[in-house]
Amino acid sequence: MQRTIFDDDHEAFRDTCRTFVDRQLRPNQEKHIANHEFGREMWLEMGKQDLLGLNIPTEYGGAGVEDPRFALVLAEELSKLAFAYSSCVGIHADCVAPYLVDLCTPEQKQRWLPKFCTGELVTAIAMTEPSGGSDLANRKTAVVRDGDDWILNGSKTFITNGYSADLVLVAARTSPEKKARGITLFGVETGMPGFERGRKLDKVGQPESDTAELFFADVRVPAANVIGQVDMGFIYMMERLVAERIGAAVSDIAHARQILDETIAYVKERHAFGQPIGSFQANKHKLAELVTQCEVTQAFLDACVLQQVDKTLSAVDAAKAKWWASDVQNSVLDACVQLWGGYGYMNEYRVARAWADARVTRIWAGSNEIMKELIGRDLGL
Ligand SMILES: Cc1cc2nc3c(=O)[nH]c(=O)nc-3n(C[C@H](O)[C@H](O)[C@H](O)COP(=O)(O)OP(=O)(O)OC[C@H]3O[C@@H](n4cnc5c(N)ncnc54)[C@H](O)[C@@H]3O)c2cc1C
Repeated sequence: MQRTIFDDDHEAFRDTCRTFVDRQLRPNQEKHIANHEFGREMWLEMGKQDLLGLNIPTEYGGAGVEDPRFALVLAEELSKLAFAYSSCVGIHADCVAPYLVDLCTPEQKQRWLPKFCTGELVTAIAMTEPSGGSDLANRKTAVVRDGDDWILNGSKTFITNGYSADLVLVAARTSPEKKARGITLFGVETGMPGFERGRKLDKVGQPESDTAELFFADVRVPAANVIGQVDMGFIYMMERLVAERIGAAVSDIAHARQILDETIAYVKERHAFGQPIGSFQANKHKLAELVTQCEVTQAFLDACVLQQVDKTLSAVDAAKAKWWASDVQNSVLDACVQLWGGYGYMNEYRVARAWADARVTRIWAGSNEIMKELIGRDLGL
């Protein structure tokens, strides 16, 4: 089905993104996999091509674009190569950017945003802790006031860009008695004494991304690094998770659709019993189902995106989009592996990697069970 939410400017931008992917990322993908990160030179290259500061005001070196569709086009094109690229770039340019733009002081913006746009400053956001990620209000990482500074202690885990980030937004408990209303966001920077990183975590998929544990031992964070207001962190996170979930859902379906298209080409070439495997009725019907699942999902996501453009998208609809798209992505990719037969299980094949890359999308950005909790609550249950 023809999509109707993009105009000529979005499509021209899509061409720019594709060129970047084909010239800069694709030839270097094996190196990124071996290194478990795509490296500073790639961040700087993205900065040079104005791909990192789409939503950052022009006075700080960004493109000053308010239309979220441009960032989503970039996310789609990155995830078509490999999901890790849209994860890492999405955390920096889509998830962290709104916190910096909406909540930071002019001094903080001047300090961080120009380098954010050039790729000299890579960012991450650290909410999840070893003791749990779903119950976001229950953070154990804590800070106490010491004069003008805050002393931070605790740890975070599974943090995307965690190994390479120069600035990490850390959610920490400031007022234990206030529960969800006692969490504050702090900008923790590389080089602050007591801030250490663990190894790059060995994941099932997405080997191009660096995911790490972070440790804070008596880290002295100046008051000038508080993001927004003290005790407002939980509310800030809830407000911005809507955009994060739509970004995730859009990437999920672009990723699945790309591999599905590659699979359709494959089943026309691969023969068994003297005929293309795609011509067996069982496979033909299966592919008809997969294409339909992707397109129906895409229609719902595109409606969500238009509501995001109008700023009317609800948290509940974003939750529906997130769980549904990640479920469809996983079931489509699983069926694609089946259609590739033994090759589908080999890591050198894109379909195998995509299948492993996708597994986490039902877990992160709020697990699918948590998404259903939100939807169920909205039903008054
Ligand atoms: C590759 C990767 C990258 C990530 N990147 C980041 C990042 O950049 N920043 C960040 O902060 N976090 C990140 N995460 C963490 C991710 O958001 C969490 O893993 C996720 O929120 C789940 O938290 P948990 O792993 O602690 O699972 P838990 O909270 O322990 O949950 C375990 C299981 O219990 C279920 N469960 C929990 N509560 C309920 C309930 N009320 N009802 C029903 N079921 C429930 C969950 O759905 C899940 O299936 C990343 C994770 C991965 C794997």
